[in-house]
Amino acid sequence: MIDGGEAIRKLALNVARYTGLAPLAKPFIGGIGAILMLHRVTATPEKPDSVNRHLNIAPGFLDAVIADMKASGYAFVSMDEAVERIKAGGKGGQFATITADDAYRDNMTEALPMLEKHCAPITIYVAPGLISGTADLWWDVVEDIVNVGTRLTLNTPGGPLTVDCSTPAKKLQANARLHAYLTSEVREEDLRAVLRDLANATGVDADGPRLRTLMNWDEIRGMAAHPLVTIGAHTINHSNLKRLSEADARHEIGAVRGLLQAELGEEPRHFAYPYGYASAVGCREVGFARDAGYTSAVTTRHGVLRAEHAGFLHALPRISVNGRYQSLAHIRTMLSGVTTPLANAGKMLVTI
Ligand SMILES: [Zn+2]
Repeated sequence: MIDGGEAIRKLALNVARYTGLAPLAKPFIGGIGAILMLHRVTATPEKPDSVNRHLNIAPGFLDAVIADMKASGYAFVSMDEAVERIKAGGKGGQFATITADDAYRDNMTEALPMLEKHCAPITIYVAPGLISGTADLWWDVVEDIVNVGTRLTLNTPGGPLTVDCSTPAKKLQANARLHAYLTSEVREEDLRAVLRDLANATGVDADGPRLRTLMNWDEIRGMAAHPLVTIGAHTINHSNLKRLSEADARHEIGAVRGLLQAELGEEPRHFAYPYGYASAVGCREVGFARDAGYTSAVTTRHGVLRAEHAGFLHALPRISVNGRYQSLAHIRTMLSGVTTPLANAGKMLVTI
C-alpha cells in the first residue's frame, strides 16, 4: 500500500505529455526495462468511491498495458530473469516484470487470467501477518471507521483530539488525519492496538477488509504452484521498517523468509519494502534486505531501470500502474523515462 509523491508525479506526467517530450526522450532515457507495480485488479470494486480506489485498476486495463508494451518491444519476464537482465546491462532488449503487493484475492481471480493470456509472469509480495491476521489492512479499516463514525477521539501527545466525520467532506479530512496519526504519531508497534480500539468504539469489524479482499493461505499456495507466479516477501507484519529498531526491522525482513517457507515450502528470493517511500525505507533498510540474502528488493520510488541498477539490486524503483493513471498515454509517458528525473529531483538513476 502506498500513497507517496502522487501530486509531483501527476505534475511530471502532464509536463512530459503536453510538451511532447516523451516520445523524443525514450531512446535516450527509457532505460533497460521496468518493474510494474500493481495492488488491486478488479472490474467490480466493492466501494467504487473509496478513498483507496487509486490502489485498483480494471483487468481490462492490465490487458491493454501488457499488449501495448509487447507491441512496442517489451519482453515480459520473471523477477529472477529481470535480475539477470539487469546484471547483464539490459542485453537482450527491453524487458518488464510485473509485481503486486499485499496478495489481494483479485490478483488470482481477475489479474491471473490476463497474465495467462499474455504469458506474463508476476511476483506477488506477501506479508504473512496480513494473511494470518496478526496485522491489519489498516487503510481499509480506517476507511470503514470514518464511514461509520460521526466523530472520533484520538489520543495525541497534546491530549485527546476530536475528529469530525459527520459529512462527506469531513470524512475525507478525517481519513487523511487518521493516516497521519497512525503512520507518524502512534508508534509502529502500537498501530494495530490503536486501530482496533477505534474499530471497537465504532463497531467496525477490523478483520473484515482482510478476509474480504486478501487471499488465504490455500489460495496463496495455489498461486505459488502456478508457473507464472513467484511469491516474494513483504515483511511479516507489513511494517514501516524505518520506524522500527534495528533488531525489529531485521526480524521483519529476515524471519519472514522462514514463515513463507513453512507455508509454501520454498524460501522467497525477492522482497518488497512495505510502503516503499522515503519515510519507510532508506539506506539502513536496504542493507538489512541485502544482509538477509534476498536476490532483489523493490521500493515504490518512481523510475525505470537502468544498467547501473546492477549495483543497487536491493533498491529497485517501480512504475506504479494504478487507478490514477488508467490511460495508455500515461503509461507510455512513464515508460519513456521522462518522468523518472521529473519525479526524483533530476535523478536519472533512482535508488532510495
Ligand atoms: Zn504493501
